[in-house]
Amino acid sequence: MIDLIILNRNLRVQDNPAIYFGSMRSNYLVIYLYDEVYWNGNGKSKRQLKFSNDCLAELNEDLKKFNSKVNIFEGTFDELQIWIKKNFDDFVIHINHCTDIKYFRDGFLKFRDSFLGKINIYNDFGLQLIKLDRDLWSNNWNKIMNSQLLENPKKSKLELETKLLNFSNFSNKFKNSFVNLDNIQKGGSSQAYLLLKSFLSERCKDYRVKMSSPIESERSCSRLSPHFTFGSISIREVYQALNKYYSQSENKSDLYSFKKRLYWHCHFVQKLHTEPELEFYSMHRACDQLRLEHDDELIDKWINGETGFPFLDACMKYLHKYGWINFRMRAMIMSFASYNLWQPWQKTSPLLAQLFTDYEPGIHISQVQMQSGVTGINLPRIYSVSKQSHDQDPDAIWIKNILPQLSEVDPSLIHASELNHLYIPKIIDLKSSAKDARERVWSIRKSKEFKKEAAEVYYKHGSRRKRNLRK
Ligand SMILES: Cc1cc2nc3c(=O)[nH]c(=O)nc-3n(C[C@H](O)[C@H](O)[C@H](O)COP(=O)(O)OP(=O)(O)OC[C@H]3O[C@@H](n4cnc5c(N)ncnc54)[C@H](O)[C@@H]3O)c2cc1C
Repeated sequence: MIDLIILNRNLRVQDNPAIYFGSMRSNYLVIYLYDEVYWNGNGKSKRQLKFSNDCLAELNEDLKKFNSKVNIFEGTFDELQIWIKKNFDDFVIHINHCTDIKYFRDGFLKFRDSFLGKINIYNDFGLQLIKLDRDLWSNNWNKIMNSQLLENPKKSKLELETKLLNFSNFSNKFKNSFVNLDNIQKGGSSQAYLLLKSFLSERCKDYRVKMSSPIESERSCSRLSPHFTFGSISIREVYQALNKYYSQSENKSDLYSFKKRLYWHCHFVQKLHTEPELEFYSMHRACDQLRLEHDDELIDKWINGETGFPFLDACMKYLHKYGWINFRMRAMIMSFASYNLWQPWQKTSPLLAQLFTDYEPGIHISQVQMQSGVTGINLPRIYSVSKQSHDQDPDAIWIKNILPQLSEVDPSLIHASELNHLYIPKIIDLKSSAKDARERVWSIRKSKEFKKEAAEVYYKHGSRRKRNLRK
């Protein structure tokens, strides 16, 4: 019997259930599924693929220590299913669950159903994959996070050459594909461990405060998000490393904030797993009636950082260049598109996702909806671009660095976006657009029907966490 280990986004050897359990008989083949259509799917992009390929390169090297390697299957889940049935009689498939976009999910579910009894699906992250009980969710998450890490896989004794691509031939295909992406984060488990160590030992100092600034967060946030997305480190391993550091750390409140966010990660991914329709519909369906039209020109200016608001434009240009920006700025960017520009999130969300190296559909889609006021269970919050500009970059040094054409301009004019001919024109009036948005959003929230549906949304998706993470 041969064990077929199928990988998609869990690109690590350590604490990887599919690899660990698949290796038990020492007769295993590791297959990475590369599907070009998936990589052109909702919110996916070249920068994410580049990061994923970095992770794969390191995984391939790591597997050599276990007498194994990464074999690449190019095609869809359907084609992989046919290939497996044609080439193997006696086999078991091992795969980690992955909450992803509809294209992936549809392919995966069909694949799963065609191998019933011959496929083992393992949980990754701290999700409840079946029988969701929100009341037990938090306890369940703690249990998963505190359970023992998996050991190294066993060495493979398999002597089998397939016609599948090896990693080096696969990566050669992308030689010219990743232009202008030199500044995005590098993938791979060794990078993840370096980030974890430096964060826990020193960078976490004042994390709680510095995380709000686009300038300081670059260093003071963990920067582990793309590693979680592509699985180059397991959340459980990070959680346990954090617990070890906690008692001796002088930065306990910072580390506690970080711990809460690890919980949020899974809490948000769970929402998309529970209700995959959220990729296309608002959590509170009545909110889909709010923004029925869109304006391509406005969206284009927003996503390219040409809104006439220097701080927002600087954030966008920074994001284009580095593939990452901090939470507060992501929220402001989204709030501007949904409230000030009044554009439907379904149009803007994929464009923003493509810019994030760490695009995690479960988190992204839930956050986009929160920042657009369409969940029904979170109070709408409209970020003021001028306030954020003033608060986060009082002397406008960061803005001027990104937009050098403003280098001689007084910071107060920059924050207020009162620049006349010195900068591109504003595409919207900040105050009146925010006022209109507030009125429109609150006008539908008052009705009994709205509240009734909101209660149902809370029952399905709302967090019941008590403050028990310190345990
Ligand atoms: C509109 C919008 C879209 C977003 N899209 C994504 C996305 O596609 N992928 C993604 O990983 N995060 C997303 N976030 C959440 C957050 O901005 C990032 O997780 C964070 O900036 C990543 O940087 P870090 O790893 O240094 O975070 P840290 O502050 O070091 O946090 C550690 C980890 O906690 C988790 N986390 C942190 N904040 C949140 C949050 N608010 N919700 C859920 N999990 C959180 C992440 O896994 C993160 O890696 C989004 C936020 C907004 C407002």
